[in-house]
Amino acid sequence: MAIPLVDLKAQYRSIKEQIDAAITEILENTSFIGGKPVSDFEKDFATYCEANYAVGTASGTAALHLALCAADIKAGDEVITVSQTFIATAEVVKLCGAAVRMVDIDPQSYCMDPDALEDAITDRTRAIIPVHLYGHPADMDPILKIAGKHGITVIEDSAQAHGARYNGRRAGSIAEIATFSFYPGKNLGAYGDAGALTLSGKETADKVTMLANHGRWLKYKHLIEGFNYRLDAIQAAVLSVKLRHIEEWTEKRRQVAARYDELLADLEEVTLPKPKANVEHVYHLYVVQVPNRDKVTEYLREHGVMAQLHYPIPLHLQPAYEHLGMKPGSLPATETLADRCISLPTFPELTEEQISTVAKTLKAAMVNA
Ligand SMILES: *Cc1c(COP(=O)(O)O)cnc(C)c1O
Repeated sequence: MAIPLVDLKAQYRSIKEQIDAAITEILENTSFIGGKPVSDFEKDFATYCEANYAVGTASGTAALHLALCAADIKAGDEVITVSQTFIATAEVVKLCGAAVRMVDIDPQSYCMDPDALEDAITDRTRAIIPVHLYGHPADMDPILKIAGKHGITVIEDSAQAHGARYNGRRAGSIAEIATFSFYPGKNLGAYGDAGALTLSGKETADKVTMLANHGRWLKYKHLIEGFNYRLDAIQAAVLSVKLRHIEEWTEKRRQVAARYDELLADLEEVTLPKPKANVEHVYHLYVVQVPNRDKVTEYLREHGVMAQLHYPIPLHLQPAYEHLGMKPGSLPATETLADRCISLPTFPELTEEQISTVAKTLKAAMVNA
């Protein structure tokens, strides 16, 4: 039997009764939009993130767009982010009419390099979006320091980092604004699209709540123009059930990573993840680097290990960002990772047998691919 990158069925089976009961309750109440399921989840998720406020949204992408709106990003402004991320991080910048700039990553954490950030700041820079990639927090202290010096808003893209810590602080509570995705395959995943923002300030929390709901508090009184970016009640109910298990699942992800670390340690050509000393990684993905990546991936997949690539073409080399005029070689650490990365199956329900099969198959791939 093939070993998938993530096994959503295994997880559903383990919590089926709780999930089915939560969904049935919503169906029976027919309270599909807003209400207690949403506000309960927002409260619990804020507590989990050790943030003051959480606001549910329709997706992680919607949360990112709202974060930029909260920071008042508009035409003529620049937003700095990384190139090795999912396109959502960058594409929302355009929705605000602003220009995106992409900087290189640190070759160990795979997250934004604070020195590269400092060099990219101009007098138009209004926001910085570091991404906690694969579940490893970005180096937030220097980033916040640089941002503070220039009066720039920092938005943590925490879509891959539910529960991760940086110098003891939870992802989502480090900067003033953070965004999360609950896409089904994320560490905390809904059964459809969903997302959230976490925030430290009440004013900003109120603003994004209003923007996400057509710019209103009361049914027919619109204070500003907004969007329909609300979190769906069924998804909120699913997420509330799953939030009760996230600590245990994160612990299991760490155990999986520790086993991979042990079993793959003697593979000289394979670079394993190496979390920085001041972080608690949550292993959304366990990403290794190998020299002949495409052949190794093909070998793994042919032998039932459904490895995937995150991400094989960095954003600055995508057709969608051709207008940035960034040539191959412009972000060396990003391009090295993109050329060499392979995501091994990473999910809490992986069995010891599956883990050792993945390790054995990777060892064979390094010899035979
Ligand atoms: C998944 C993801 C998003 C987008 O979230 P959606 O819920 O799919 O809109 C944004 N940023 C990163 C880093 C992601 O991994």
